[in-house]
Amino acid sequence: MENEKHTYIVRTGEVALKGMNKPYFEKVLLGRIKNALKDYKNVEAYRKEGLIFVKTPAEYPEEEVEHTILNVFGVASLSSAVETESDMEKIGEAAAEYMKKLIPQRNIKTFKVEAKRADKSFPVQSPEIASRIGGYVLKANDGQIRVDVHNPDCVLYVNVRHGHSYVFADKIRGFGGLPLGTNGRGLILLSGGIDSPVAAWMMAKRGMMIEAVHFHSYPYTSERAREKVYDLTGILAGYCGTIKVHSINLLSIQQAIGENCPEDEMTILSRRFMMMIAERVAKQNKCDMLITGESIGQVASQTVQGLVATDNAVDIPVMRPLIAMDKIDIIDRARKIGTYETSIEPYEDCCTVFLPKHPVTKPKLEKILESESKLDVEALIDEAMKTMETVSIGPDRI
Ligand code: ATP
Ligand code: MG
Repeated sequence: MENEKHTYIVRTGEVALKGMNKPYFEKVLLGRIKNALKDYKNVEAYRKEGLIFVKTPAEYPEEEVEHTILNVFGVASLSSAVETESDMEKIGEAAAEYMKKLIPQRNIKTFKVEAKRADKSFPVQSPEIASRIGGYVLKANDGQIRVDVHNPDCVLYVNVRHGHSYVFADKIRGFGGLPLGTNGRGLILLSGGIDSPVAAWMMAKRGMMIEAVHFHSYPYTSERAREKVYDLTGILAGYCGTIKVHSINLLSIQQAIGENCPEDEMTILSRRFMMMIAERVAKQNKCDMLITGESIGQVASQTVQGLVATDNAVDIPVMRPLIAMDKIDIIDRARKIGTYETSIEPYEDCCTVFLPKHPVTKPKLEKILESESKLDVEALIDEAMKTMETVSIGPDRI
């Protein structure tokens, strides 16, 4: 039987625009899809004529397979389809059968067929394919449905390709983006908050491999606060694969700042240290860029002046994918990717432990540099680097 396997058609969106590099991007994407489905047995996945086809044994739950494929970056859309030979009668039978199941499931009263002929040597043209296949469907489902070309309950797509044709009713949108591994490696400064996991996810969606650095102030911050960061990493790993997390104790630096610098500059000075340490970690681990969850104007340390003072601390490029996003949109995204509920768990963060009562909102760079010059920056960074603990976290943590 031809349909012992279930077929999924994967469209690649932006990958398809890659010109000469298209085969490379498609190959990486295919590898990512295969890897995402590695726990399923007897899965076939291959590229053909600009699409990716996935075939699984029919007994695998469709929704689960769909969900797994849709979480792969680079997937623009997905259709769960029936495959048949490219022959009008066979397509007609397949379409009629397909609709027979769908009509009661979705209470369909009206439909139309949209046909596309990718195989230009196929003897019947698209409009005629549509009307003839519509005829098969009507005949097999006599009296239950009628054609409505303007406002149908269901659009039945018929895609005629070389050798095989496909019948399906849904095109489910994926995240789009580019396949992981096609755009270098970024080091996310990962707090336990809402923003930084979203920032990491957004860069990963553009093909960037992710590594993370987290700062804590143990014993002022608890072990549970760090576990929360690992939980967030596990959720991200569901999209990005296993992620290395380096955690570093910032306490002695915060104490040195507290003893030697104006109280209202604590946050901005700590942030500069975080950036400088992250730059070192990035260099050691061959990361091309830093990533932060900063968004302009969101809090005192993220005013224009705050960002100027922070950015100035490092030479390595810093990506801030949330820079122009409103908090409400960031929260929305966090919910969609599944990090929100964990992010709002109430554990202390190293910045809140030492939060000044009135943080500077317009720090002058010269003044910040002058305060910082009271500290032995290199020695403090060297000491902090010694506290680094590294773990690898995979999606199975969650
Ligand atoms: P988030 O929700 O990501 O914590 P936030 O709105 O709380 O962001 P800040 O606390 O000002 O903003 O932090 C700005 C950015 O600095 C964070 O998005 C993150 O990239 C980085 N950062 C802050 N605290 C830490 C930390 N403890 N460890 C690693 N990075 C941090
Ligand atoms: Mg924070």
